[in-house]
Parts: sequence; C-alpha cells; structure tokens
Amino acid sequence: MKLVFLDFDGVLNSSGFLYGSGEPFSTTSADEKIDPEAVRRLNEITDRTGASIVVSSAWRIGKRVADLRGLLHRHGVTGQVVGATPTGGRTRGDQIAESLEYQQRLGRVIESFVILDDDRDMGPLTDALVKTTQARGLQDEHVAQAIEILGEK
Ligand SMILES: [Mg+2]
Repeated sequence: MKLVFLDFDGVLNSSGFLYGSGEPFSTTSADEKIDPEAVRRLNEITDRTGASIVVSSAWRIGKRVADLRGLLHRHGVTGQVVGATPTGGRTRGDQIAESLEYQQRLGRVIESFVILDDDRDMGPLTDALVKTTQARGLQDEHVAQAIEILGEK
C-alpha cells in the first residue's frame, strides 16, 4: 500500500487562506479551517496514486480515527483515511516511523509513502517529506512532488 502522512495546519490550510481577507479568522471552529483548494490538491494525489491517508497532524490528539475520517470526508477528502500516528513526546518523524513499523507488523507492505508537512522534524524520513509552508499550504508543485515519490497507479 501507499501512504500519505497528512498534517493539517500549513497543509490543508494556510495563513493565506485563514487571514487572506486581512481580517483575523472569525471563528474557532476547526471545521472551518480547511481550504477547499488544498482538499482538491490532496484528492489529486490520492486519486492518481491510490495512496491512503494517515493523519499526523496535532488535530488527531483527543480524536478517534473515525472522527478524523468524518471531518475530512465532510470537507470533500476522497482518499481512504486508514489511521493516525501515535502520540507522545517524540518528534513527528519518530511518530511516523513508529506508524510505519506498526503497519508492517500488521503485515501491510508499504510500497511508498510521503509526508505532507510544513515542519521539517522528520529525521531519517526526510527524503519522504514534501515540505509545504504555513503561508501557502498545499500547492500544485507539492502535488507533483508527492506523486513523483508515491508513483502513479
Ligand atoms: Mg503543520
């Protein structure tokens, strides 16, 4: 299987999206903090590669995978949401590495994976990082990079 490790803040939203009007974002509702353009780009990645999604965003804390799946699907995400990375006091890269080991222990063969994130703390997994920016979030160039790493189906 192919996996997309998905951050939300700085990937599915951006300061450009949240504050583009010049007004501070008017709500604290998490549900309104996802940019439809970023969702469209994420869908292009999963559609063209067949990759499934594992949530690595801090949004996963205190939520069940079913809640994250529901939230993403309400926003039009079409990819299959198969899990979330473990939480704990380590770096995000460590959490993703642990998740990969867990998938392999379940007998899943990881054909390829990509990390969509605006942070860099991926350690030895940095080759799989497609680094977005908090200012702009997921852009077309990141779609191309992610598809290159994952491979088209
Ligand atoms: Mg982020």
